[in-house]
Amino acid sequence: MRGSSAARTRCTTSNLKLRLVRYWYKGVALGSVSTNNGLESLHGRIKRFGTLRKRMPVGSFVKEMHRLMEEWSWASESQPFQSVPPRSLSLEVKAFHWSEDPSHMEFFAPQLRMGTYFVPGSCAGLVSYRRYGRCDSKPRRFKTFGQFVVWLKAYYRVFRNVHDILLCTCASSAKMYICKHSVTTEHMKYETDVSQKAKALPIDYHPRRGRPKSVGPALSMD
Ligand SMILES: [Zn+2]
Repeated sequence: MRGSSAARTRCTTSNLKLRLVRYWYKGVALGSVSTNNGLESLHGRIKRFGTLRKRMPVGSFVKEMHRLMEEWSWASESQPFQSVPPRSLSLEVKAFHWSEDPSHMEFFAPQLRMGTYFVPGSCAGLVSYRRYGRCDSKPRRFKTFGQFVVWLKAYYRVFRNVHDILLCTCASSAKMYICKHSVTTEHMKYETDVSQKAKALPIDYHPRRGRPKSVGPALSMD
């Protein structure tokens, strides 16, 4: 009797903790940054091109930072920030093959008249679209992190941001600001053509690294 009472108390305490800490899971703030990778990358560049991984006195360090800031500032004039994500051939190939899947098109095509689109993801078979929508409106329905991950990969939302760029909630779009879902949406919504080259390439196409064979060496003597 005493054991079951103690277990009940523990259970109540953990429930109480979960209620108090409502925003305990990673996906609570979708679209916001959840890692400091960007900051680490900037630190890496400072160490590689600025401090050269040496310990420096504060005075020298501040001088070095001032020099770096000035250099980057001038560089931003000659190399402006990209406002449109680059579209590679391999992405076109992926988008084309994704749009060729009848099950994807059956789900996606009826939404073309609307301004927001949902596309099936890798876990679409594990969560019904209805349940996905219910969890979208009330995220606290998740009881475990695993449930959240499956939900996150079940369907993705393609939408336009304030700069009129099509984005998606999938991982690829979060990293590159472009994905096969947004490319397909653009092709289908505005009826733009997919290049013949992209249509002809296999689904696992990956461009080879390095100089293409057809291009000769840059310092050729003839
Ligand atoms: Zn996507």
